[in-house]
Amino acid sequence: MAMDTSKLIYKKIKKYQNIVIARHVGPDPDAVASEIALRDAIKYTFPNKKVLAVGLNVTKFKYFGSLDRENLGNLEDVLLIILDVPTLDRVDGIEDLEYKEVIKIDHHPCDKIIANVELVDETASSTCQMIADLIFNTNLKMNENIASNLFLGIVSDSDRFLLSYTTARTFKVVSKLIDEYKIDFASLYTKLYERPINEIRFHGYLAENLTLTDNGLAYIKIMPEVLKDYKVDSGTPSNMINDFNYIKEVLVWIFVTFDDKNDIYKVNIRSRGPIINEIAEKYHGGGHKFASGARCKTIEEIDNLLKDLDEACSFYE
Ligand code: AMP
Repeated sequence: MAMDTSKLIYKKIKKYQNIVIARHVGPDPDAVASEIALRDAIKYTFPNKKVLAVGLNVTKFKYFGSLDRENLGNLEDVLLIILDVPTLDRVDGIEDLEYKEVIKIDHHPCDKIIANVELVDETASSTCQMIADLIFNTNLKMNENIASNLFLGIVSDSDRFLLSYTTARTFKVVSKLIDEYKIDFASLYTKLYERPINEIRFHGYLAENLTLTDNGLAYIKIMPEVLKDYKVDSGTPSNMINDFNYIKEVLVWIFVTFDDKNDIYKVNIRSRGPIINEIAEKYHGGGHKFASGARCKTIEEIDNLLKDLDEACSFYE
């Protein structure tokens, strides 16, 4: 089935001269790596097509390559491909775009059909794993640079193969990337994991100041003064939430970061038991069963979210 869908996606890619690839707002390495890898694979296979990877540039992910800055309002007959995002409302950078058809490639759960062609696999570790499979299953071409980006997206979203979405398929894909494209994977880890010392100190602050409930919920509310003290930005906690896995006393853990630029609380939630995405959905959020996010406007909403998560922990056996 997925094979047939891959072939259909390839046909659509072949048909369109103008292709725009986009991903979710607040991107992570899987989102950025998948859009750049797919853009580069299409351009490598069809050098005469116009293929743009769009969305806000994130400086810390610039090692994946650069995104395209172009006025999308001038494009006609566009195929839009959205990656790593279940719904159109969280797609970044397509406000001015008029598209003819849309393809979705994603690993998030979603009940609704929102695209003309959908390749959705909730069991995939990452969107990069799905893009690697798409390239392997079709006549799209890959090179060492594309393979390196896909490898890093898989490593990042599977949290170095720790998360349960890691399967035999993940290892098969990674093995093929390493074997066929001779990627120097050990040297790539510096790009993903090197951090300045202030971030390590901030990590220590988070560990010191987590509050733990009797039911196994760990939480911290991070205010702008603290971010300023440690010289980190409001996106930094997102990169650290996975490091707090496997704490014996903790079932669900949550970082609440007040983003004073946008006047909103950004929430990262992780679980090693209770299902959290259904709770996140009540608070302008969503995501995977055990890895979700939300955006809240008020501290009352945050306190209600904490209450719901604590209750979910108390019911969990
Ligand atoms: P994060 O904690 O930002 O790494 O997000 C974890 C997961 O939740 C990712 O799969 C995100 O795509 C998803 N997610 C984060 N924020 C939201 C939101 N506001 N709405 C829907 N899904 C979200």
